[in-house]
Amino acid sequence: MSNHIKSKLLIIGSGPAGYTAAVYASRAMLSPILIQGIQPGGQLTITTEVENWPGEEEIQGPDLMIKMENHARKLGCEVISDHIKKLNLNDRPFCAEADSGKLYYADSIILATGAQANWLGLQNEEKFKGFGVSACATCDGFFYKDKVVAVVGGGNMAVEEALFLTKFASRVLLIHRRDSLRAEKILQHRLMENKKIEILWNKKVIDVIGENNPPGVTGLILEDTNNKKLINIDASGVFIAIGHSPASELFVEQLKTYDGGYIVTEPGSTKTSIEGVFAAGDLVDNVYRQAVTSAATGCMAALDAEKYLSKNKGA
Ligand SMILES: Cc1cc2nc3c(=O)[nH]c(=O)nc-3n(C[C@H](O)[C@H](O)[C@H](O)COP(=O)(O)OP(=O)(O)OC[C@H]3O[C@@H](n4cnc5c(N)ncnc54)[C@H](O)[C@@H]3O)c2cc1C
Repeated sequence: MSNHIKSKLLIIGSGPAGYTAAVYASRAMLSPILIQGIQPGGQLTITTEVENWPGEEEIQGPDLMIKMENHARKLGCEVISDHIKKLNLNDRPFCAEADSGKLYYADSIILATGAQANWLGLQNEEKFKGFGVSACATCDGFFYKDKVVAVVGGGNMAVEEALFLTKFASRVLLIHRRDSLRAEKILQHRLMENKKIEILWNKKVIDVIGENNPPGVTGLILEDTNNKKLINIDASGVFIAIGHSPASELFVEQLKTYDGGYIVTEPGSTKTSIEGVFAAGDLVDNVYRQAVTSAATGCMAALDAEKYLSKNKGA
């Protein structure tokens, strides 16, 4: 294979947005190339049960992503295991340089590089991800019916997650390392009013405690930031709510962005500030961040790219 690969449409990212774009673009006969990146399948590969993908009452995240990959391949998308390290959106055709040394040229591009939750970097955090450690109450809250859960953070996201979790959990412990919250006042008011929520002020999480067989969280070790004393608390789950970072480093200088790097798209479309470049999934969305919303915008991006390419035949 030559080091210079040309396509009408290059899709960067292999989460629900990328694979859905691949399915639609393949069916539109665009012969897309999809670059998977270092996390083939995206964020859902680090979770266990997914119970909100329509049509699948329960499916393991990694299995769902293999199904999506197979679907895209079956329809003719070329799925390539590679990672883009440089992207030039100023010249046409656009050019993406990969870790393999290959140069992918394309008339149009769909950016679907997703976002990553910010984690605390605790020793046991990784081990219990998907087994009690989560960054998404909408995704995992349902698994904590009548259980005690902890939420870590002090901004809007943490307060919203804590309030949402009261629908399921018997008690929600909000852990914050300061003595006041950054969240909007109205959210703080709702939080204080909610009898199920207890705020543990001035506490820093030192580590997650759990059992190995079967794996599951049983509690947390906290440090009191005033006197440095360690405290153990019981909890069946912990939700880390300290923000998300969109994976937009490659193109943040070239496209319009908002809120720390999310890509701006035209309302009701996936068009970015550069014609022929479309963006979908968590990369553009700091609100919903779901597999199904990512897939939906992936579909839109493929349809938008198809329209762009048919209008610009010589693109
Ligand atoms: C633990 C966890 C559990 C979740 N559970 C659920 C759930 O139950 N239900 C639900 O609806 N949602 C859930 N979500 C949210 C859901 O996973 C995301 O909303 C969804 O995956 C976003 O899809 P995406 O395609 O935008 O991006 P992602 O899934 O983030 O995928 C991004 C892709 O881009 C690739 N990439 C990044 N940079 C590059 C690059 N430079 N070159 C090439 N490729 C690149 C990555 O390798 C990856 O394949 C969960 C998230 C997490 C973290």
